[in-house]
Amino acid sequence: MTGGRLYARDAAALSDLQKLRFFPQEVTRGAGCHLYDSEGREFLDLAASWGAASLGYAHPEWVSRVYEALRTQAGATGLSSAIAPAVELGERLLRITPGGHDRCVWLGHSGSDANETVARSVVAATGRPRIISFIGAYHGGTEGSMAVSAHPVQAHAARDGGVTAVPFPDPLRPFAADPSGAALLEHIAGLLRTTSPGDEVAAFFIEPVQADGGLLIPPAGFLKGLAALCAKYGILTVCDEVKVGLGRTGRMHAFEHDDWTPDIVVFGKGLGGGIPVSAAVGPKAILNHATAFSMQTTHGNPISASAALAVLDVIERDGLAENAARSGSRLIACLRAALHGNFHVGDIRGRGLAIGIELVDEKGGAAALLARRAVYRAWEHGVIAYYVGTGSNVIELTPPLILSERQAENGATILAQAIDDACSGRVDDTKVAAFGGW
Ligand SMILES: *Cc1c(COP(=O)(O)O)cnc(C)c1O
Repeated sequence: MTGGRLYARDAAALSDLQKLRFFPQEVTRGAGCHLYDSEGREFLDLAASWGAASLGYAHPEWVSRVYEALRTQAGATGLSSAIAPAVELGERLLRITPGGHDRCVWLGHSGSDANETVARSVVAATGRPRIISFIGAYHGGTEGSMAVSAHPVQAHAARDGGVTAVPFPDPLRPFAADPSGAALLEHIAGLLRTTSPGDEVAAFFIEPVQADGGLLIPPAGFLKGLAALCAKYGILTVCDEVKVGLGRTGRMHAFEHDDWTPDIVVFGKGLGGGIPVSAAVGPKAILNHATAFSMQTTHGNPISASAALAVLDVIERDGLAENAARSGSRLIACLRAALHGNFHVGDIRGRGLAIGIELVDEKGGAAALLARRAVYRAWEHGVIAYYVGTGSNVIELTPPLILSERQAENGATILAQAIDDACSGRVDDTKVAAFGGW
C-alpha cells in the first residue's frame, strides 16, 4: 500500500485510535458527490463520509447558512441562553418527527453523545435498571453509547450489567430458521417474562436498519411487533436514526417503513451535513428529567444548529428523500444486473440510499477478504465505499442524498467490476492488508 506525503504526515501526527479503513487517500477538496486528492484525482463518494455528508460536499445552501451563522455568531453555547438557530432547530425537529405531545429536543454533537444521553436518562427517569439492544448494534464510541451497543469491534468496551443484547433479524441467517421474525419476537417475549423482566426494562434501543451490523433490514412486521411488545410493559422504544434517517431510506424517517412510532428518536451524522450536531427527540418526562444532567459546553451552538437547519431545508425543498428512493433503486437494479451469476454475492439489499452488498464464500460464510479487496479496487478506479457487518463482509453504500441516477449507474458499474476483480483474484492482497477491522 502506498500513499503520498500528506498520508505519511497523517500517519505520523494523528492517532490510530480513530482510524477505520484508512485508505492511502489524500483528500484536499470536495464538491457535490465527489472528493478530490492532492493530484486532482476525482472520486465518486458512495459512502458520503459514513453518511455524514448528507448533502454532498460544500453544498452552496449549506455553506451560506453556516457562513451566515459564523458571521453573526449568536453566542457559542446553548447552556445558559436561548440561541435563535438552536430554538428553531428544536421546533423543526419536533414538527418533522411524529410522536406524542409532551416532547422536547436535546441537542448534542454526535450520535454517540445523543445515545449516551438517552441511555442515561431513560434509566434515571424511569427508575428501571435494564436496557435491551441488538447484537451487532452500533450506537456510538463513548463509554455510555458503547455500553448499549453490541458490535464485535467493541468487544473490549466496558459492559453495563443492565444491558442485554438479543439477535437482530438477519435475512440470510434467520433466527431459528424463521425468516418472518416471529420466532425471534417470541424469544424476546420469553426474555421479558424471565431473565430480563419487562417491568425492569427502561428502553429498547433499535436501529431501523442495522447498518454497521451488516445493513440488515428487518422483515415486514418485526419492528411493529417489537414496539407492541415494548408497549405492553411500558418499555420505551429508542429509534437510532443516526445513519439511515433524514431522507436516506426514501422516507424522512427510516422507521416509517415499518409502521411504528418510536418513543424517542436519535439523529446524528447527516443531520449536520459534515458539521457535528446530533439530537434526541422524546418525552419531556425523560429529556427534562433534571437540569445539568447531560451537557457539553458547545451543545446548542448556532453554527451546528444552522448547519442542521440548512440540511433539513434542502432535504425538504429539493425532495431528497424521493431522490434517495429513485437513485437507490437505480443503484440496486444496476448492481443486481451486473453481479447476476457471481455466487460470491450473497445478497444485494437496501432501502433508498442505504444499501448493502453481502459477500460470501463457497459455504455461504462471511467473505471479509473479498470485501476488503473490492473496496480497495473500487477506490483504485475512483469510487469510494466501505464495508461493515459483524463478519466484515458487507459493502455499505450511503451516498450523498443528492446522488443522481446517472451517478448511481456509473458508480454501480465501477463497483460491480471491482467486486468481480476481487472475486477472481485480480487484486493484490499485500495492498489491502491494512484495511482490517470490522
Ligand atoms: C455512527 C453511528 C452512531 C454514532 O455516531 P457518531 O457521530 O460516530 O458519534 C450511532 N448510531 C448509529 C446507528 C451510527 O451509525
